Amino acid sequence: MTAPAVLEPLAATLTARLPGQVERDAPFGALTTWRVGGTAAVRVRIERSEDLAVVAGSITPNVARVVVGRGSNLLVADAGYAGLVIVLGPAFEQVTIGTDRVIAGGATPLPVLARQCAAAGRRGLGFYVGIPGSVGGAVFMNAGGHGRETRDVLVDATIADLEGDATPVVASGATLALGYRSSAVRASQVVLAATFVVESGDPRELREELSEIVRWRTEHQPGGANAGSVFRNPPGDAAARLIDEECGLRGTRVGGAVVSEKHANFIQADAGATAADVRELIVQVRDRVAARTGVRLEPEVHAVGFDEPW
Ligand SMILES: Cc1cc2nc3c(=O)[nH]c(=O)nc-3n(C[C@H](O)[C@H](O)[C@H](O)COP(=O)(O)OP(=O)(O)OC[C@H]3O[C@@H](n4cnc5c(N)ncnc54)[C@H](O)[C@@H]3O)c2cc1C
Repeated sequence: MTAPAVLEPLAATLTARLPGQVERDAPFGALTTWRVGGTAAVRVRIERSEDLAVVAGSITPNVARVVVGRGSNLLVADAGYAGLVIVLGPAFEQVTIGTDRVIAGGATPLPVLARQCAAAGRRGLGFYVGIPGSVGGAVFMNAGGHGRETRDVLVDATIADLEGDATPVVASGATLALGYRSSAVRASQVVLAATFVVESGDPRELREELSEIVRWRTEHQPGGANAGSVFRNPPGDAAARLIDEECGLRGTRVGGAVVSEKHANFIQADAGATAADVRELIVQVRDRVAARTGVRLEPEVHAVGFDEPW
């Protein structure tokens, strides 16, 4: 994906002011967990929070931008993304473990956070072991599983807003209004770090708890290239039940994309699949479930680079 003209001045400024941190035609779709989709016209790696002030001061409203964590909830168009992709660098993967609080950088992989806490004898974040996202993505999405959600453990998050001057501000968990796979964090905001509440626990027991979660996931969810649950569960029901029991759509295929036989709310991208295959299958599943049950499923995954996502 070559940078559109509207992106050129920004790309030039960022390249000059953040040397070595800007890449054009950068890998994007291939780095998501679906492993489909094209490149990003421009990607900037943030090494310190001050870098975000540079981005905020240079970006104009007509430039598309997206903050990306581990790409475990993203579908990138085959044509790529004609905007600026913002990623947090390794400096944002630091974890500080206290007695009853853990502070983790926004780029910290959730399974790493879960394992570090267990090893240090801190209970509370074990449910993250099976969620392959980042801390920033978890706050944005209120990621959860195994009876817990981010909102149960989040004390506060440090956030920079690219629509302002990107000065990091600490926002309490309550003000972030975490709901079902949602939060009040806006697309212009970058989660730089989060503080979680933890309790003391026995490292051996905690490690066993993690193994149990991993075992459960292996048993109930497919491996390979996917993005976890594709659709939000409608109130009082499960998207997987509607897709499978009501509509019999397990195994339905479009090109290289297939509704998982193991978990009907997962769509797997086989080798050779395209983002268009995945998108088309999402639309087909949504429309067939709506036609049969009257329930219109809403995608939980985010689409980027499409003229019309779903
Ligand atoms: C195998 C598998 C299992 C999964 N299981 C679960 C599960 O049990 N529960 C669950 O909730 N989810 C699950 N997911 C989905 C996914 O892991 C979560 O939604 C996760 O929170 C996404 O984090 P990410 O860093 O990958 O975000 P990305 O996919 O990179 O981005 C998702 C959204 O978050 C925003 N975002 C990412 N990082 C930041 C940041 N630092 N600041 C601001 N915004 C940001 C992006 O702009 C985007 O809108 C699963 C996914 C897979 C592949």
